[in-house]
Amino acid sequence: MPRRHFHIYKSHVVHSWLRKVATLPMSWRHRHWLLAGIVLTAVALAGLIAPRGANATRDPVASDFITLNLPVPPLPADEQNTVAAGSDAEWQTVTVQSGQTVGAIFRGQGVSGNVLQSLLQDSANTNALVRIHPGEEFSFAHATDGHLTALRFDRDEKTQVTVTFDASGVHQDVAARDVERRTEVAHGVVTDSLFDAANRAGMDDAMVIKLADAFGYDIDFAQDLRPGDSFTVIYDSVWREGEKLRDGDILAAYFVNRGKRFSAIRYADGHGATMFYSADGRPLRKSFLRTPVEFTRISSRFQTARMHPILGRMRAHQGVDYAAPTGTPVHAAGDGRIVFRGWQNGYGNVVIIDHGRHYSTLYGHMSRFASERVGQHVSQGQTIGYVGMTGLATGPHLHYEFRVDGVHRNPLTVTLPKPEPLPATELARFKQQSAPMLAKLDKLDSLQLASAK
Ligand SMILES: [Zn+2]
Repeated sequence: MPRRHFHIYKSHVVHSWLRKVATLPMSWRHRHWLLAGIVLTAVALAGLIAPRGANATRDPVASDFITLNLPVPPLPADEQNTVAAGSDAEWQTVTVQSGQTVGAIFRGQGVSGNVLQSLLQDSANTNALVRIHPGEEFSFAHATDGHLTALRFDRDEKTQVTVTFDASGVHQDVAARDVERRTEVAHGVVTDSLFDAANRAGMDDAMVIKLADAFGYDIDFAQDLRPGDSFTVIYDSVWREGEKLRDGDILAAYFVNRGKRFSAIRYADGHGATMFYSADGRPLRKSFLRTPVEFTRISSRFQTARMHPILGRMRAHQGVDYAAPTGTPVHAAGDGRIVFRGWQNGYGNVVIIDHGRHYSTLYGHMSRFASERVGQHVSQGQTIGYVGMTGLATGPHLHYEFRVDGVHRNPLTVTLPKPEPLPATELARFKQQSAPMLAKLDKLDSLQLASAK
């Protein structure tokens, strides 16, 4: 799944949007704020937003499709405590700090190195004990005389391990925890930035980035977004024993950009690969990214003749220039193989990727390269270098060329191969799974239309 790091643009997007919106008449903006408020209130009243307080709703249809069914019911929390540590023990929780190792945490609680070794012999524990992250928790139980009787940690978000110590040795109990996915819905109207609109609709920044990633092939969020654009999203979040653990994934969404509606439906194909598809079953992922560098503006277009800013004479500009701060990551526009990485006159530090099927792309003026070398395969979206102004450049920008059979083409207008739709057998399954999602999106949309009249 290619990552398009929209987070780095947030401040930029907000900034440029504030500027654009400032030129709009006041009454227009006010009306849309009101509309967005009315819409959200109407949706809430219609019962689509859960009575739990948060705008989460447990949807029977969606749940069938995504809820994790755990075969083992969890022990009640207090029962676990007594089983593990004895009634006279008190649990103490230690939260991992940045830079701490599990060895140091265990030593600090009086756990011997041998115990840690024996826990690591169970390879299922390796991830939880070797790659620990700040904020994770370990619990320790000490008897009244101070000696350690038990410890507890999360092997993963669904599995808790309790280790008890007694005269006969070390015992490990593994318990499944009750993890469920809940479906949430959000609708927003863009007034200033996508982040602001989505935050108002109850989505956090991580989910906004997922939304932008899903539609990033069709909508250039740095340049195409307009006030009045709207989105309707069904997503899920992960809950454990009544507490929200984290946001999940976008399940289905509409995005209306400049009056045109795009749809995205998450679907796992027969091989288990999960991607977003349009309602008619075509992958949203295209062979090439529209823009190989994020949060940017076009500073010079493809032209057969232009006055060269440094050479001072007429010369064809055989690519597109994207102005961006030095150090901004440059992404491979498509899957391919690096066929050149080095210095070329004019281009400065340049990378050329051969994508097969007649296509190649070139990235110039980079400040430095990423670690990928000549001959290596790169995936779409992978960072291959960083924006700079090496070679003939008056400011930091990416010079991007797109070639078909060696002939320079305008990357902004060249016709690209359409992704293949799902095969007929898969398509039937896709339609069956996506129908309830689309029906729900339509229902949410029609409620908004009704309330806006
Ligand atoms: Zn250029």
